[in-house]
Amino acid sequence: MRPAGIMGTPDWRQRARRFVSERLAPIAADIDRTDQVPSDLMAILGREGFTGLGIPAEWGGSDGNSESTAAVLEELAGASAAVATDLSVHLSVCAAPILRWGTDAQRTRFLRPLAAGRFLGAFGLTEPGVGSDAARLATRYERAPNGFRLRGSKMFITNGASAAVVLAFATRDPALGSRGISAFLVPQGTPGYSVAQRLDKMGIHGSETTELVFEDAHLPEDALLGAEGEGLSIALGALAGGRIGIAACALGVARAAFEEMCRSARLRSHEEDRACVARAYVELESARALVEAAARAKDAGRPFEIAASAAKLAASGAAVSIASVGLDIAGPAGTRAGHLAERLLRDARVFPIVEGTTEIQERLLGRSLIEQGGPSAERTP
Ligand SMILES: Cc1cc2nc3c(=O)[nH]c(=O)nc-3n(C[C@H](O)[C@H](O)[C@H](O)COP(=O)(O)OP(=O)(O)OC[C@H]3O[C@@H](n4cnc5c(N)ncnc54)[C@H](O)[C@@H]3O)c2cc1C
Repeated sequence: MRPAGIMGTPDWRQRARRFVSERLAPIAADIDRTDQVPSDLMAILGREGFTGLGIPAEWGGSDGNSESTAAVLEELAGASAAVATDLSVHLSVCAAPILRWGTDAQRTRFLRPLAAGRFLGAFGLTEPGVGSDAARLATRYERAPNGFRLRGSKMFITNGASAAVVLAFATRDPALGSRGISAFLVPQGTPGYSVAQRLDKMGIHGSETTELVFEDAHLPEDALLGAEGEGLSIALGALAGGRIGIAACALGVARAAFEEMCRSARLRSHEEDRACVARAYVELESARALVEAAARAKDAGRPFEIAASAAKLAASGAAVSIASVGLDIAGPAGTRAGHLAERLLRDARVFPIVEGTTEIQERLLGRSLIEQGGPSAERTP
């Protein structure tokens, strides 16, 4: 049984479903096996309009809101978690902050080609020694003639090697804490900026995860996104929206794992599998409701941060749990390399970490709920 998708306009979801069945599903296993996506995939996603989702037509985008973006990401992730994650990062934490905080010149130079899929975007916050506590960034910047100089490195950066632009965060002085951090648009080819390594991972094979290095990388004055010192609020604002995208990717994996679980249960006909499938269905649909609520709140211009954390918690938890029980039901065959149940579990396991770990979401969500006495403020239209 395939639970009905309820988010997004039918148009975007239908377009994504068609794309998946015609183009993505046939190559998804190869993407996982080879750890590579076809080099023209972004351009193809661009032609479908997916790389311009959430970006107004005025800036070369395809319009579409958070609901339609989530619907597309869910559909793509149902076939390839890697492709969906790459697109989510590109849209939510690179293009969206340029749209929100960029000047018209920055939007013209970066947002238009990002929207068209002519190039890919990345987001560089995490460092070898800094993740959850982003105020402790060690990558430094200083003023230089006609601009800035960046020194330091970034770790686990999605799309890092292929991205034509990375939104990178650096501090003027670590002693200033959050007030010292600024955001920079760093184009590939900037002298002193390089990709140090591509990291091998257990899951989302095909999605490039990289270490980036800045060795006195010189940036012009107009590389600064937003005002100096505004970097951490730009990063956190981008990540709040990004969590809906990552939650939608996790939801797609959870749905694929649920479908695979049902297939395995049909094959072996064990009575005890019925309860597993029932529990998985409830987890899946609860996560779907939270992802939908978060996307709707954002589209309505209401506060959505609590809902986004709840959606990410629920969807990443559902993906891991359903894929894990699904592997049990698939039995020993499911552990073999190349089996879908095995791939889905490896892919699912990444989502509790990316764009804010489960523990961090629990802390954010718990604190907000206690302070506000409940999520009702976000529900109020
Ligand atoms: C596949 C992949 C893709 C990624 N892509 C990007 C990207 O494109 N750009 C980017 O900037 N980053 C990216 N990341 C990095 C990711 O966002 C970080 O890994 C994540 O934010 C956690 O940071 P950390 O790894 O430094 O862990 P840490 O912050 O060191 O945390 C380690 C553990 O401690 C827990 N922990 C930390 N602080 C607390 C606390 N206060 N209370 C309770 N528990 C706590 C965490 O939950 C975690 O379990 C990616 C990571 C992966 C795995």
